[in-house]
Amino acid sequence: MSRKVIFATLNETVVFSKRNKQNQKTIMKTVDNFNFSGQKALIRVDFNVPLDADFNVTDDTRMRAALPTINKILADGGAVILMSHLGRPKEGPTDKYSLKHVVNHLSKLLNKPVAFASDCIGDVATSAATALKAGEVLLLENLRFHKQEEKGDVDFAKQLSTLGTYFVNDAFGTAHRAHASTAIIAQFFPNNKCFGYVMSGELASINKVLTDSEKPFTAIMGGAKVSDKILILEQLINKANNIIIGGGMAFTFVKAQGGKIGKSLVEEDKLETALNILADAKAKGVNIYIPVDAIVADNFANDANKQTVDIKAIPDGWMGLDIGPATEKIYAEVIANSKTILWNGPMGVFEMSSFEHGTKAAAEAIVAATKKGAFSLIGGGDSVAAINKYHFGNDVSYVSTGGGALLEYIESGSLPGVDAVEK
Ligand code: AMP
Repeated sequence: MSRKVIFATLNETVVFSKRNKQNQKTIMKTVDNFNFSGQKALIRVDFNVPLDADFNVTDDTRMRAALPTINKILADGGAVILMSHLGRPKEGPTDKYSLKHVVNHLSKLLNKPVAFASDCIGDVATSAATALKAGEVLLLENLRFHKQEEKGDVDFAKQLSTLGTYFVNDAFGTAHRAHASTAIIAQFFPNNKCFGYVMSGELASINKVLTDSEKPFTAIMGGAKVSDKILILEQLINKANNIIIGGGMAFTFVKAQGGKIGKSLVEEDKLETALNILADAKAKGVNIYIPVDAIVADNFANDANKQTVDIKAIPDGWMGLDIGPATEKIYAEVIANSKTILWNGPMGVFEMSSFEHGTKAAAEAIVAATKKGAFSLIGGGDSVAAINKYHFGNDVSYVSTGGGALLEYIESGSLPGVDAVEK
């Protein structure tokens, strides 16, 4: 099933909604709620794209993601002013972080000219925005050339706000930051603010998993460290029926339960936390699955010697770098019986072909469950990288574009960039 099909299904069943504190459904305002004819929409997009040495865009996924929102506003007869950050400039304007490098690429994607303002505030920006006519597109220079952006400065946000008549937030990847352009600016558009399709799609997907999930709901957690995932695990124990654990973080759980883990990755100071998580899950009737076997290596290298062993009896000098075949089988069965799946973090060191089997098997099981009707959301940097490595992007329900934002939304149930638009 393609992502587009699922997205249409989401629309129809009004999952552009989450529950407020009184547990009533609230409907989010999106660009579909407005007609932008004659208006100037100031859209916060995430054009933080990788560039090569010649400043060519090497992965335009984020730019393509913003096109439906831009095109909807242009089709209404509106004008579009795009604002974004690019990289992490520390010292103000820096050529290599200039958004001028993406203008031609954007122009090709939109099939129309794109004007560029060499500053995002001040006379340059104001006159470019004033001159903009219906159907035209203007891209502003990197917001982070001004320190006030990341500080969430109100005056800076106010200056940005004067450029447009509507504020549209379509940058999910930065929605967990209370920056001037992602959150603070929204107060200057009390009635004229909404989400673009990237934001609404992301929020619909995550709310479908967290608040409206069809059961059984299985969360698959992997990656390197338990410490990165504690808050999420604590939240998921209140929502999921099954939690599958893989990757480097599994060994902290194995050791906490008395297993011998050789020289596998471990966080000694999180052994007690791991036991608390297991106890909490047991008390709440949540099944936590820990690997039963592992592929171990004598070295952290693709060509290391390897063998399959019981996860509780890893020989000294060996380290677990992937889940083993018995674990794969158990995990595939749990995934196959799930109606909602959230995947964050690989099952092993999938970057090395010798230790990618477990991650690939989990991805295949998620794809198979999705084909049978489960809703699957893939989020967080490395699981997205894994899904893309195996070309399964169109075979799962939704691939999140914002790792940090997604994880923070699961942890806390809100994001500054979302709250500011919903206020
Ligand atoms: P994270 O960013 O926390 O999702 O971690 C992803 C990283 O964890 C990937 O680069 C994996 O190679 C790494 N990883 C997964 N399993 C293991 C393992 N058993 N030992 C060491 N690193 C691992």
